Amino acid sequence: MPKLLDLHQNKPEFCESGFLVMIIGIVGLGLIGGSLGLDFRAGGHRVVGVSRRQRTGEQAIAMGAVDEASTEFEVLGQADVIFICTPLGAMAATVAQLVPTLRPGVVLTDVGSVKGWVMETVAPLWPWFVGGHPMAGKAESGIEVAQPGLFVDCAYVLTPTEQTPPEAIARVEQLARSLRSRIFYCQPEEHDQAVAWISHLPVLVSASLLAACTQEAEPAVQTLAQSLASSGFRDTSRVGGGNPELGVMMARYNTQALLRSLAAYRATLDGLMQQVEQQDWAGLEAVLQQTQQIRPRFVAS
Ligand code: NAP
Repeated sequence: MPKLLDLHQNKPEFCESGFLVMIIGIVGLGLIGGSLGLDFRAGGHRVVGVSRRQRTGEQAIAMGAVDEASTEFEVLGQADVIFICTPLGAMAATVAQLVPTLRPGVVLTDVGSVKGWVMETVAPLWPWFVGGHPMAGKAESGIEVAQPGLFVDCAYVLTPTEQTPPEAIARVEQLARSLRSRIFYCQPEEHDQAVAWISHLPVLVSASLLAACTQEAEPAVQTLAQSLASSGFRDTSRVGGGNPELGVMMARYNTQALLRSLAAYRATLDGLMQQVEQQDWAGLEAVLQQTQQIRPRFVAS
């Protein structure tokens, strides 16, 4: 694999933080791609973007998310590392189209929310591919909502294989660290089951909450409920009210892990319903005491 030194004509540069300056390509300039671009540029790297629509690239330049943008892959000719930030459904076709234009040694990495499918289908297309998942997001999508610092203190999961060149892993890890993310290495299957519990299941639970609330037959009560909804409802409905395409992709590409989590959730909900039906208040309190103790294991209070 060529060293960065060679790629930069024997003149390695370092930014203020001491990181090696790279030319970073981003394909798919939406929430995640745009937010990465903002942070990488702020970190002193040069960022080159490829968008599907020309207008998105123009917006990305105007926002300072990229130095240069195009709808053609040729613009990525000098990139050291390329982030694939399209929706999961477009990733395999995008990488297959991109690969013939790449120099040997260019590192490809993705940001997809599912890793098993990516590692099976996309990773084999390029030997310097490192699977990745920066675990930050928002309800909105698109370049307009990209923001600096989105990944600070968030988990950034990497899923290299035994065949992944160590230098490729090191380059992606360096960039993920520069976002001030917390780095985790794991197997793709472990990642997919873990995110099924804490990310994909919550999307469907939250969506089912929103859908259930519309089943109120009395219009006056429905209107009153909407007027009374406050912080608790905002918290519990947030991820169910997000980007529908993203939710479908999670279910489509992480089906088995999600079904396993959904089955456990349904059984738990049935148990709670039974306790309410039987007026088993002591049993219900015991469950809620347990969940109160469990929550800090997942999220800091
Ligand atoms: P997004 O805001 O909708 O942006 C996706 C971008 O990809 C769009 O700007 C669009 O570009 C481009 N695109 C859409 N369809 C395409 C296609 N068929 N071919 C080529 N480009 C296409 O989505 P996002 O939230 O950034 O998600 C992108 C990736 O990040 C996904 O793989 C997702 O799994 C992952 N991810 C998302 C989150 C999250 O919470 N949102 C968190 C972590 C990881 P144009 O504007 O040019 O059409």
